[in-house]
Amino acid sequence: MTSMTTVLKAGLLGVLSLSLSIPAAMADQPAKQAFGAVTLPSAGVPTPIGSYAKGCVAGAVALPDDGPNWQAMRLSRNRHWGMPQTVATLKQLADDAVRLGWGKGILVGDMSQPRGGPMPFGHASHQLGLDVDVWFTPMPEKRLTPEQRETIPFTSMLDKSKFLTTDSRKFTSTAAKLVMTAASYPQVERIFVNPAIKKKLCDSWTGDRSNLGKVRPAYGHDEHFHIRLSCPAGVASCKPQAAVAAGDGCDKSLAWWFTDEPWAKPKKDPNAPPPKPPRPMMLSDLPKECAVVLNAPANRNAVAGTRPQAAPASALAPMGDDDMPDLPDSAPSPRAKP
Ligand SMILES: [Zn+2]
Repeated sequence: MTSMTTVLKAGLLGVLSLSLSIPAAMADQPAKQAFGAVTLPSAGVPTPIGSYAKGCVAGAVALPDDGPNWQAMRLSRNRHWGMPQTVATLKQLADDAVRLGWGKGILVGDMSQPRGGPMPFGHASHQLGLDVDVWFTPMPEKRLTPEQRETIPFTSMLDKSKFLTTDSRKFTSTAAKLVMTAASYPQVERIFVNPAIKKKLCDSWTGDRSNLGKVRPAYGHDEHFHIRLSCPAGVASCKPQAAVAAGDGCDKSLAWWFTDEPWAKPKKDPNAPPPKPPRPMMLSDLPKECAVVLNAPANRNAVAGTRPQAAPASALAPMGDDDMPDLPDSAPSPRAKP
């Protein structure tokens, strides 16, 4: 462990020594534009820097677009990058999915950008290479074409005719098993799902409930579930989140989602001036090593698959439901009542 830490520190210091060459103007631009424009990861030791919603990743690796039992989706977004342990976790889940009878495996949604960081659209987190979305749609028999991977619609697990209720024809017991299998992995710290899905698990899960507390209710997350890995041990640059509370989470914290409060519209003063758009996160708001990562030489060998040169329209489309930003589970903000 000590030698690993030393290697990581040496890697980071090596990167930091380049920092003098960054023009001062680079430090003050919206971080989502800067990180969204980079097409390849930096070279060097894979290292998450900062926190899940304010950070970046050095030396990220790619999930291949195709594996024996997974397919990566929405390839044009170029968001299938992450820490090696994230890729390993997806391969583990893909194997387990087949064993559970979850189609031919898993469809993998967004991971992180090549150097992590904030994104031009969707997701507040996914910045460290430790977050990944997995579709609630099993991998089909046939390989999907790149075009189909852009256009196949997301499927909600909810019965939209009811308030916060899963549709049992869609959210099956196999889907529940898939979520709980991911939650059982020691490297997985949290899984975000819609409150209706959390409630369904609370009410129906008869297996081991010791990992149910990792499954956290969040806005959105009815078409995919979001897996978050813990900061790797001994990596000081990765700022961990508070541990999940003890217990299965089938308590007051879940009941709150079934009140009006999370869905209430903020009260508006009709005489107030229109609200100013929120200030974007600037590069200077991130840990300063992230500016270094952004400007570090690219790992030119790190190419996942055939990537389109120009982003098709879907990459620039406005956020759909699926792209609900991932909020910290302690501080939700109001959304339209489902
Ligand atoms: Zn997510």
